[in-house]
Amino acid sequence: MVPALRVIEREQHVLSRKHISKAALHVLYRLNKAGHDAFLVGGAVRDLLLGGKPKDFDVATNATPEEVKELFGHCRLIGRRFRLAHVLCGSEIIEVATFRGSHQDDDADARNSHIVDGRILRDNVWGSIEEDAQRRDFRVNALYYDISNFSLRDYAGGMQDLENRVLRLIGDPVIRYREDPVRMLRAVRLAAKLDFRIDAAAARPFAGLGPKLTEVAPARLFDESLKMFLLGDGLKSFHLLEHHDLLAFLFPATARALQRGDAALRALIETGLASTDRRVLEGKSVTPAFLFAVLLWGEVRKQALLWMGQGKDHSDAWSRAFRKVLAEQCQRVAIPRRFIFTVEDIWLLQPRFEQFQKNKVLRLLSHPRFRAAFDFLLLRRHESPQMCELGQWWTHAQQLPRNLLAKALSRHDNAPVVQVDDTAGVPAPHRRCRHRVNS
Ligand code: ATP
Ligand code: MG
Repeated sequence: MVPALRVIEREQHVLSRKHISKAALHVLYRLNKAGHDAFLVGGAVRDLLLGGKPKDFDVATNATPEEVKELFGHCRLIGRRFRLAHVLCGSEIIEVATFRGSHQDDDADARNSHIVDGRILRDNVWGSIEEDAQRRDFRVNALYYDISNFSLRDYAGGMQDLENRVLRLIGDPVIRYREDPVRMLRAVRLAAKLDFRIDAAAARPFAGLGPKLTEVAPARLFDESLKMFLLGDGLKSFHLLEHHDLLAFLFPATARALQRGDAALRALIETGLASTDRRVLEGKSVTPAFLFAVLLWGEVRKQALLWMGQGKDHSDAWSRAFRKVLAEQCQRVAIPRRFIFTVEDIWLLQPRFEQFQKNKVLRLLSHPRFRAAFDFLLLRRHESPQMCELGQWWTHAQQLPRNLLAKALSRHDNAPVVQVDDTAGVPAPHRRCRHRVNS
């Protein structure tokens, strides 16, 4: 049953214009002044009511995209199935969506649509604000902030869910996930981000409908993966994906490797995700390549060892393993080529951390991917005590001025400080750390 509309007047809620970006306010006011309805919607309203900082500001209006474009100098219309306006204000982009009519995104409609000039016309059917609200995914995402009087409109019971810290879907969860399986991932991501629980009725269909995720375009799953893992709540998202048995539909190789009960691999993945979350919170840069290198390492290692067991030499075995694992992964989550190259570099540089000739050490230190590969090496401390020592050696080596490091390495102090375990499966010709780094 659809709850009745509840209007919450300005003095009865905490959402203040102070916390809305200037760009979003500008767009809202201008639309309103031109005689259109204009609302702030979605995650921004939800996050502001929770006292958080919105990732982006979305606007909903009864103006058509063409009318929006006429009002703003810097505006482009995007989207094939459903046209949206992107209004550019300085470095900010405000997404302005015209209210959508009901049932525009289910399979039947897509099939019945007419494709003209590559656009599906049936989808561009505008609706009322009530219809727009019913099309949204979670009740907490169907709150509208009205710029004309600063009131809030709650069309689906979202205020109650915010108070109870729960994610409930609008409508029948099975139908809503069938229409768009990505909503299952959004449930996981938002539960992790907001620290909300997923309502039992919204979580129950995961078991039957999880496989539907394999029908989603891999490029879209790449975008969703980045939102899950690179916005500061990656570890929690990962645990929720595992808990709800959804991991295998996104990262089959990771799920397989973890099912083997490899505790070191689990520690490597969890530490990797936690350190990525920390970097995000500290405002440092993060790369998708590191994430994929971490998630796929267990399977790559296993495959390489298998090939070696079949008599392939080290580098052949490893390159076959890279190719196989990355090709399988890209069928689910399309990793763009530029990141694939970096993932491969991170893996390929691992054996070079076991080579201690002066020139090789200095060359590795100035490799453009040194930092990412070194961070990865540090995660591998979970694999063996020797890996841990290797990490310490390179930590120390970086702290030394280059001339002192070069001098220390030239001294040919052959005392082995690290004996690398062959079963670690590293594609390394050198198995011994020959140098202590003593400044
Ligand atoms: P955040 O921006 O914090 O990641 P969000 O909820 O704002 O979370 P967006 O992707 O920005 O997520 O989407 C904006 C709004 O559009 C959502 O709040 C929701 O109302 C609606 N929406 C987004 N994706 C879907 C979907 N797959 N199905 C239905 N509604 C959706
Ligand atoms: Mg948003």
